[in-house]
Amino acid sequence: MTLDTSIEYLKGIGPERAKLIKNVLGISTVEDFLTFYPIRYLDKNKVYQVAQLRENNLEVQLKGKIIQLQEIQTGKTKRLTAKFSDGTGTMDLVWFQYSKWMKEQLPVHKEIYIFGKINLFNNQFSMPHPEIEIEEKKEADNRLRPIYPSSEKLTKRGLNQKFFQAILKSICIEIPNLIEENLSDYLIKSMQFLSRQNTYLNIHFPKNMEYFEKADHRLKFEESFFFQLGFGLKKLHHKTQSFGNPFPVIGDYFTGFYENSLPFELTNAQKRVLKEIRQDMKKPVQMNRLLQGDVGSGKTMVALLTMLIAMDNGFQSCMMAPTEILAQQHFNSIQDLLKDSNINVRLLTGSTKASDRKIIHEELENGELSILVGTHAVLEDKVKFKNLGLAIIDEQHRFGVAQRAKLWAKNKIPPHILVMTATPIPRTLAMSFYSDLDVSVIDEMPVGRKPIITAHRREKDRVSVYQFCKDEIEKGRQIYFVYPLIEESETLDYKNLMEGLEHIMDYFSEYNVTMLHGRMKPDEKDAAMNYFASGKAEIMVATTVIEVGVNVPNASVMVIESAEKFGLSQLHQLRGRVGRGAEQSYCILMTSDKLTSESRTRIRTMTETNDGFKISEVDMQLRGPGDILGTQQSGVVDFKKLDLVKDSAIIKNTKRAVEKILEIDPLLSRSENLVIKNYYVKYYKGKNKWSKIS
Ligand code: ADP
Ligand code: MG
Repeated sequence: MTLDTSIEYLKGIGPERAKLIKNVLGISTVEDFLTFYPIRYLDKNKVYQVAQLRENNLEVQLKGKIIQLQEIQTGKTKRLTAKFSDGTGTMDLVWFQYSKWMKEQLPVHKEIYIFGKINLFNNQFSMPHPEIEIEEKKEADNRLRPIYPSSEKLTKRGLNQKFFQAILKSICIEIPNLIEENLSDYLIKSMQFLSRQNTYLNIHFPKNMEYFEKADHRLKFEESFFFQLGFGLKKLHHKTQSFGNPFPVIGDYFTGFYENSLPFELTNAQKRVLKEIRQDMKKPVQMNRLLQGDVGSGKTMVALLTMLIAMDNGFQSCMMAPTEILAQQHFNSIQDLLKDSNINVRLLTGSTKASDRKIIHEELENGELSILVGTHAVLEDKVKFKNLGLAIIDEQHRFGVAQRAKLWAKNKIPPHILVMTATPIPRTLAMSFYSDLDVSVIDEMPVGRKPIITAHRREKDRVSVYQFCKDEIEKGRQIYFVYPLIEESETLDYKNLMEGLEHIMDYFSEYNVTMLHGRMKPDEKDAAMNYFASGKAEIMVATTVIEVGVNVPNASVMVIESAEKFGLSQLHQLRGRVGRGAEQSYCILMTSDKLTSESRTRIRTMTETNDGFKISEVDMQLRGPGDILGTQQSGVVDFKKLDLVKDSAIIKNTKRAVEKILEIDPLLSRSENLVIKNYYVKYYKGKNKWSKIS
């Protein structure tokens, strides 16, 4: 038996069962089985007494005798019952399916152990389909019994817990030949880990719960350790191998703008982040930096200043946004900020006219165009740069890894990469997921911002909510009404939105109302957006297309309809559309009266805090890390044991351990680290295809 042995060849399996197991559980080798971890354990050392039983649905073991057997016919169905007694009381054992042979094998009047889940009915416990062991044959094995994740489909075909236990037992006997150590001795000693062989034995058949904890802890540590090691090695490799264009110069473009055109003083956080970026770009190594900053923290300005540094060094920049509206907004604000300069900025999106496209292509290739803002359209092969030195990606999680990698290829020496995200990522997740990126955080809002006041309101409050909106409009403010997207049905969304629109136009008939939704053509969207941004409309009714980046500082109230249907990060993003000016802003979460406990938590979190990082922590606890990163990247955090929410202490520990090892032995060439290297090369190297994040 080796780790690669197909399960087909294990005793008791064969080709047919192997196929079934592969289909249902995805297990095809001995190794897969070893990492098929139990979901819980049973303590077979504990023997209950009938008179003691209180709790329904408990899995218990009892010792006693079958004193009577009876077949009961009701209609067409038969069942077999056995009266079981242990001296303290009696209960029925029941079989709804059984063979004649099985019936004859039942050990009547013999001392037996029975084992199974108990049912309480009419004040009387019974046990359907118990496992039975005759006392003298009972295995002298006092380890805990593993219970594996299974399915009815398997159980029906005889692949029950007993079957899995037997298979795993036969594999565990071979552990000394199968399992090699993968952590250095000094690490095992200092961490007080079980050996790797002992770990696998105790994860399947723990000596006791203490040993289970030890095994479980080591497996989590291993997962986190090799994952972090991969990033650590990549980062080292990147720093020594990944050439980039050094940008040593701070010249007239940057200084001129900074001294003459900067409309406000940068926050300290913006200054610090800018310094970090400059330090990176000075070096002949490609920058790979993630810029995190809550909505409204002023990332656009940082992006612009970074692009000006690129220009000072003779390079072009591009800035990519996930939606047409956002790209347009970036383009507008950058053009506006640069209006006193002679810098050539252009916008490229899916709806750019062919004639404009042609000019852009030409100007990019001959170097006349310095800054290109756009959507995915900038990734097309036709878009060639003379010398792209910097690529900025806004709202990173909306882009797929492969798409981002395309940017690298746009220049012989890859451009510096700055990824900007307004979705604050929980610390543990950032630590594991972004280990190969350098992270900068804007953790300070521009001065004068008043925190947004968030309130939860229900249908009965609707009139007062509307009245409040009217009062705000009278003060000169503008209002957003947002309706949820119901992913399954675009038609329903549309209907929802149209009804909402009608309703609002009715109630707010003295004002101008405009609308924005996903079905509109880009120029219709622009027109609607401009109508609102210019102040011609007091009210914008929209679906979540306005979610990201939209900037109308005079809008001070955001009413979110059916707020319980939105995720936390989405609510936070939406709320970020207000509070962008000097006025006090409000976010009103309208919900129905009936809320699930999860949606109540979401709403409460929103009313309690404006801090995006706190919100993301709660979000991760509610949804799990995979969902937060988005489906494209959720595979990255597909750990078998490690839980990014609960195991943050382990993640911290492993990060420290990895850093220490790589500091002393960056190539893992010391003899004591060879076990780590061998295992890493075999299992991890080249496997994390997501590593080129940008
Ligand atoms: P985000 O980080 O969400 O992309 P923006 O870059 O759109 O935020 O900035 C939000 C608003 O704050 C913009 O109107 C911008 O002009 C303004 N702003 C940015 N930095 C500052 C600052 N240091 N002081 C005052 N206002 C600022
Ligand atoms: Mg932005």
